[in-house]
Amino acid sequence: MIGATLSHADAAGRHWQFIVVGAGPGGSATALRLARAGRSVLLVDRGDMPRAKVCGCCLSATALHELAALDVFSGDDPAPVPLAAVRIVAGGRAARVPLGGATLSREALDTILVERAVEAGVHWLPEFLVTSLADAVDGVCLTGRAVGAEPTLSIACDHAVIAAGLADHVRIDACIDPTAPQATADNQPLRSQRAVAAASRIGLGATLPAAASDLPAGELVMAVGRGGYVGIVRLEDGRIDIAAAIDRATIAAAGRPADAIVALLAESLDGSGMRVSSAALHAADMRATPPLTHRSPLVAGVHARIFRIGDAAGYVEPFTGEGMGWALANARIFAAAALAADRPHVMADRYRSGHDRLFSAHHARCRGVARAVRHPWLVSGAVRLAQLAPWIAAHVVSLLVGASARRLLSGK
Ligand SMILES: Cc1cc2nc3c(=O)[nH]c(=O)nc-3n(C[C@H](O)[C@H](O)[C@H](O)COP(=O)(O)OP(=O)(O)OC[C@H]3O[C@@H](n4cnc5c(N)ncnc54)[C@H](O)[C@@H]3O)c2cc1C
Repeated sequence: MIGATLSHADAAGRHWQFIVVGAGPGGSATALRLARAGRSVLLVDRGDMPRAKVCGCCLSATALHELAALDVFSGDDPAPVPLAAVRIVAGGRAARVPLGGATLSREALDTILVERAVEAGVHWLPEFLVTSLADAVDGVCLTGRAVGAEPTLSIACDHAVIAAGLADHVRIDACIDPTAPQATADNQPLRSQRAVAAASRIGLGATLPAAASDLPAGELVMAVGRGGYVGIVRLEDGRIDIAAAIDRATIAAAGRPADAIVALLAESLDGSGMRVSSAALHAADMRATPPLTHRSPLVAGVHARIFRIGDAAGYVEPFTGEGMGWALANARIFAAAALAADRPHVMADRYRSGHDRLFSAHHARCRGVARAVRHPWLVSGAVRLAQLAPWIAAHVVSLLVGASARRLLSGK
């Protein structure tokens, strides 16, 4: 557990340059970058660190590049386990494709990032739920409360960053200047501004004991079935991480989330020789996410002082395993925009254009992959082709990782 660095009264007694809501990779990396540049930053999360998160825990080349640029790993930290290959399994067929990247549990990664942020001067307030943000011409007023407690607290800042992930329910309140021209549009609660893709799948995830599968370390399995897909990987401490994207109708028909995953694995792994314990899946603490594929406004409020980054700004379902890399890259371009501009609207324009330049092609590619994996026969056919002609595997990887990944890595 990383203890709070200040009391609620001290947090409310100061005016912050930035408050970051949410300490996933996007929020912590943003806080870290801003603090290293000398800004006063308060980072809050409704949870504590370490905490579990539905995630495949695979760090893409982009994620590793961003983490290296942040220089966050110290000798005492758990090290990411290199990933050598992905085994794509569909309809009982399996193709093993070489893969880069690494795996690290979210308990370890997110804790390391918060620790580094605190070392850089960020103030940290865990177990604090933010309920709303209201912007005015001269700043933002955040309202929240300690988890499990009633009294609310108000904290003032120049700019607020919502990095609250898919479960972002922070309300954007009525702007304080009722004469502002966009007041009516921007007074809509945040959830009504979120555009969720039709038939978006939801995420399910759990960690299982080491003995729950015979999967070796360094290999990712993607099991694709009719109602969704499941990623399975061994974490740095030996546990098995399960992360799935599944149709809501499939879960409803199965009864319980664990039943849906067991059925999907039975369908896809049949004959592949791989084992995942159904008993362990049923005993696991299974977590779920809201619908995965969505887009939300990057800048909220009338005065352009409230920003969204990471999953809170937009996400495409996770087959290609890039969400953490995107969140970390998003933190970099937000911090660059925030540090280069004094006036909120200039900051907002720079952030919007940097975000569009960096992400639109990647999101479009991932939407295409997400559409393709809705047809298990297509995946099974591709797996068969890859078995017959291994050079096809290289094309599969470039589709998954993206021909333009270099642009994301270089930030151009
Ligand atoms: C099934 C599945 C598999 C995935 N697999 C991978 C993978 O292998 N590789 C990869 O790179 N990505 C993967 N992802 C995506 C990845 O998990 C996300 O893209 C990434 O976590 C986004 O980071 P973030 O910082 O935007 O948000 P998050 O990591 O979601 O962090 C948000 C934080 O905000 C906090 N919060 C929320 N609301 C509030 C509030 N009101 N007040 C205070 N705090 C709040 C939460 O407690 C949380 O700590 C996967 C996702 C899913 C669903």
